[in-house]
Amino acid sequence: MMKLESTTIKLSPRFDLESMYPKYRKYLAGAKVGEVVTRFAPEASGYMHIGHIKSALLSYHYANMFEGKLIMRFDDTNPSKEKEEYEESILEDVKTLDIRYKVITHTSDHFELIIKRCTEVIQRGLAYADKTEHEQMKKERMDGIESIYRNTTPEENLKIWEEMQKGNLPEYCIRIKIDMQCKNKCMRDPVIFRHCTTPHQRTGTKFKVYPVYDFACPIVDSEEGVTYALRSNEYADRNHLYNWILKTLNLNPVKIMDFSRLNFVSTTLSKRKLGWFVDKNIVDGWTDPRFPTVKGILRRGMLVQTLIEFMLEQGPSKNTNLMEWDKIWALNRKNIDPIAVKYTAISKKGIQKLIINNFDLIDQSIIMTPLHPKLTEVGDKPVHKTQTVIIEKEDLSDLKEGDKIVLVKWGVFTIKTISKLENDISVIIEANPEDMDFKAPKKLTWLPYNSNYLIDINVLEYDHLLNVLKPDEIEDFSSFVNYNSKFSTEFLAEGHMKALEIGSILQFERRGYFIVDKKSIVDNNKLVIDCISIPDGKSKTMSGLATNVDAKLLQKGNK
Ligand code: ATP
Ligand code: MG
Repeated sequence: MMKLESTTIKLSPRFDLESMYPKYRKYLAGAKVGEVVTRFAPEASGYMHIGHIKSALLSYHYANMFEGKLIMRFDDTNPSKEKEEYEESILEDVKTLDIRYKVITHTSDHFELIIKRCTEVIQRGLAYADKTEHEQMKKERMDGIESIYRNTTPEENLKIWEEMQKGNLPEYCIRIKIDMQCKNKCMRDPVIFRHCTTPHQRTGTKFKVYPVYDFACPIVDSEEGVTYALRSNEYADRNHLYNWILKTLNLNPVKIMDFSRLNFVSTTLSKRKLGWFVDKNIVDGWTDPRFPTVKGILRRGMLVQTLIEFMLEQGPSKNTNLMEWDKIWALNRKNIDPIAVKYTAISKKGIQKLIINNFDLIDQSIIMTPLHPKLTEVGDKPVHKTQTVIIEKEDLSDLKEGDKIVLVKWGVFTIKTISKLENDISVIIEANPEDMDFKAPKKLTWLPYNSNYLIDINVLEYDHLLNVLKPDEIEDFSSFVNYNSKFSTEFLAEGHMKALEIGSILQFERRGYFIVDKKSIVDNNKLVIDCISIPDGKSKTMSGLATNVDAKLLQKGNK
């Protein structure tokens, strides 16, 4: 039985949700089955990253827990930043994350309505046109000083607003009149509309004014029937404004649920900073395994299942903390272990040959062994016997002549001679076919020394891209770039790996977990497989790269 195709098995992301949900339902107090509507509303101005994953997964699963619906909305109020390419990529990632939405909407679908709401607040004397210069306005807001335009009449404001909508009077913006002395500075007459003539990717040049997020969001949430708006708590100060708008405009109620913004050590989640790495060619595009993007972390061997478990466990907790990557990778390890097929690999740097002197006298038949001890459906692999076998050089170091060893899956052998040649050590062993004492002596993983049964593996390991704990708190992060964060080591492994598909997860005995990233043909039709090391916070690294980098940085208190 050899069924290699099926070694790409990954547990269904819908693994066991029904049994997980009850534990989390309580967070959405008062929610009724069938009546929950949430939305995931990214701005299509970059690739989806782990912070967005939290927002998207929580919004989806909280709706799903109550048999409600998720709205996928693109928040496209800033034509100069958004690109269609990003929308496509976000939708792709949402699909990968097994998120099922009911509809796709755009904030721009509602531009006319939002403009109408703005006209209403102006008519009611609750908003005014202001042309105070930007820095001055900022200062007045800080100092609680009212703008000299604050008391312009609604009639005059409406005239300016009409002109603004035609693209005239670019120096003006519209502000709502709330309270310039409010302790919460978000309430000090925030801007709700601004001039912009950059063509919009959906509405073209139809509109010359665009609403700001804070004004558009409650109107669109309410209009689309959202019952729970989940968002990260950097907006917490703005919740007051959100609720003020709902109330003042007499809109359908929406409950805001905020959760803590996710941060990981030594990781930037800023689209601008990530883009910088891409532009400078420091990384291998937006899908680089060192990147916190959906595509990057999945490429590095994270399972969707792990992300769901991790984010649901975080839930709507508001404790902002700096996460260690090791935590999420340790959880991932639990999920990949039951599906990772097992192989042996030996570093090309430390190969030791063992020659079997009585090879001709022993059984040479191929041994079939399971690819996974429990997952029988993935089938078996052949273990080929050859007169010369290879082991890791360091495994030889504590052995001496006369010792017994076990070649794993084969049998017991005795070391006959160890002789030093010039740069080499020659080791002769002898099979003991009758000896069944597999427990006592030293067990060695080995490979047959025959290129027909071997394959070249390029093992890739990665370190953090930044040598600083909180890169998003530093403006000039470029001096903290870790230019030495990609390591490649050559190995030999069982030729049977040839059939593994891209994305297959495997374990190299004693080495840890890996994901097949690339298969390339090099000179003489030779196949080479690139395997990315899947971090698990534990395993010995193959390149000498230190493990627990997170812990070390934390210890140093590196800021
Ligand atoms: P920008 O910084 O360019 O505004 P953003 O990272 O805030 O972008 P958006 O596309 O505006 O991204 O965010 C979409 C959703 O993802 C929002 O609900 C936001 O709260 C959430 N989100 C973004 N970053 C994080 C994060 N680090 N942790 C948790 N949620 C996040
Ligand atoms: Mg944002």
